[in-house]
Amino acid sequence: MKDHGGKLFLAWGLLALVFFLGTMGAEAGFKTVIIDAGHGGHDLGASRSLIYEKHLNLDVARRLERTLRESGFRTVLTRSTDTFIPLSARSAKANKYRNAIFVSIHFNWSWKSKVTGIETFYRSSTSRNLASYIQRQLIGKIGCTNRGVKSANFSVLRKTRHPAVLVEGGFVSNKSERVSMLDARYRQVVADSIARGILEYRKKG
Ligand SMILES: [Zn+2]
Repeated sequence: MKDHGGKLFLAWGLLALVFFLGTMGAEAGFKTVIIDAGHGGHDLGASRSLIYEKHLNLDVARRLERTLRESGFRTVLTRSTDTFIPLSARSAKANKYRNAIFVSIHFNWSWKSKVTGIETFYRSSTSRNLASYIQRQLIGKIGCTNRGVKSANFSVLRKTRHPAVLVEGGFVSNKSERVSMLDARYRQVVADSIARGILEYRKKG
């Protein structure tokens, strides 16, 4: 009987440990957010007259950095100035860190000037929830066309060994969205919505 009780105690102990580790995994799986401002230097990204996507991306990346630091995250920018960084160098930098996630910031472009909306891309199934939370926060706050969460084989998503997403925060080619993104308040809303999506992902996994 004594031996039986010991085994039961051990079983409960293991169960408690598994539960504890499970909780840790869901709530504290990462401490670092790699923020990737798309394009830079001679690579302008989407552009219309003198409005360049590379500048919008960097501005939102910096705003996101500030918001995440206030929430206690460690942040790493793949670029903090207007310089060209090859795609492979961006994921190589991200892969130096452990317990991290990767968020790439972009703005969109279409030949059809009527096309509008926000979309978030992911590649691996572990990144899908992160993309969904961010997309939901963005659409909830901005109320634009929801282009959805989509899977794509983009280089930075494929080569980065962390949960990784790429956000397209509106169309530079659309006049009304272009006017919005030139307003610092809009760019702040984009950054804050991405941050809220990240917080939700840290909480729920
Ligand atoms: Zn881009």
